[in-house]
Amino acid sequence: MTCRVTLWGARGSIPTPGPLTARYGGNTSCVTLHADGPEGRSLVILDAGTGIRPLGRALVEASQEPLVADLLISHTHWDHIQGLPFFAPFYDERSHIRIWGARQGQVPLEQILREQMNPVVFPVPLHQLDATLSVTHVEPGSFGVGTFDVRALRMRHPGNTLAYRLTPRTGGPSVVFAPDNELGPGGNYDVGPTWRRDLVAFIAGADLLVHDAMFTADEMDRYSGWGHSSHVEAVALALEAGVRRLVLFHHRPERTDDALDELFSDARMRAARGNGNLEVIAGFEGLEISL
Ligand SMILES: [Zn+2]
Ligand SMILES: [Zn+2]
Repeated sequence: MTCRVTLWGARGSIPTPGPLTARYGGNTSCVTLHADGPEGRSLVILDAGTGIRPLGRALVEASQEPLVADLLISHTHWDHIQGLPFFAPFYDERSHIRIWGARQGQVPLEQILREQMNPVVFPVPLHQLDATLSVTHVEPGSFGVGTFDVRALRMRHPGNTLAYRLTPRTGGPSVVFAPDNELGPGGNYDVGPTWRRDLVAFIAGADLLVHDAMFTADEMDRYSGWGHSSHVEAVALALEAGVRRLVLFHHRPERTDDALDELFSDARMRAARGNGNLEVIAGFEGLEISL
């Protein structure tokens, strides 16, 4: 089984178009995992931030075949669902898209997605989309999505936020997607006392970890409790869990391309000091990684 990971949006919180962010991109969280193996081809989409719009266009341009895909949502903050109404395959009656994610408190995922497309804020209601959609709730634990075995773990982030670990059912590389997560001590989240140990075990040995690196170490003093991590903490986690490659993700909206260059080179220096085997990858729109 071969897998290909593609980033369609790597920005956090809000889209940031403009000349100062053109190299790394301004679209928010969206990553795809294409798998090709004996069970055929499959596509899993991780998050539906504004990066899902260019993904939809690329899918439509690449093939006239109807789209069958799974969409896993980490949580329903705007930057992870806001592109959903602009996903072109939704407007093709031959598309079949299965959406997976957690409820928020007592509010079902489908209700959150429906209200995002309420007629007072968007012209096309969810139930009038042409595609066939299904929405399935997931909880921390194990379940299957398409040709993948998936494990989900609660993150330290406001709301019910999950990270996902995906491994092809027939064997192959593991990818962990953890876009929003506070590794530092700040904040008050609904996780148990063994959380850090559980997190390291959850990530251990993954071929690729996509992790929140919204802040610098200096900024963490001010933003402790906001539900995000520094690149320093992300590198330390990757080293502790023995992952092969770390993609730094969910860039702060204010971070320019030049400032991101500095952040990434600092992260690479720290990784090299750690053990030399961890590859730190700068998350940018259009990045493709074959596993
Ligand atoms: Zn976010
Ligand atoms: Zn969030």
